[in-house]
Amino acid sequence: MVNNSLPAPEQDSSKTEDSARDCCTNCDKCSTCAMQLNVPAFMRFYVQWQKADAQLQAKLKEAYAALGQKASRCRSCGSCERACPHQVPVVARMQELYWRFEM
Ligand code: SF4
Ligand code: SF4
Repeated sequence: MVNNSLPAPEQDSSKTEDSARDCCTNCDKCSTCAMQLNVPAFMRFYVQWQKADAQLQAKLKEAYAALGQKASRCRSCGSCERACPHQVPVVARMQELYWRFEM
């Protein structure tokens, strides 16, 4: 499970998206999750959410609910982060998705 004792994320965490270091390129190399979570799909949700206006955010919430998986199932094992060639902070983003879409 995601560590739910962590505080909710700040409203704007999009500034990290401009960094080449932690920019997701949809390469799918993080798709070997022990919990069978579709990590690349969650990362795409994260990027879309950062760029979305209120109307699109509402649609993304509906799409997330239909995904059939929840970021809260993440165990924070870090396997996906180690597989990522761009050092994307996947665990932190899974945590943020939990706050954005499941709370
Ligand atoms: S950190 Fe979470 S999403 Fe990544 S491989 Fe582990 S359980 Fe899966
Ligand atoms: S491995 Fe990294 S760059 Fe590739 S899809 Fe996953 S998070 Fe994005």
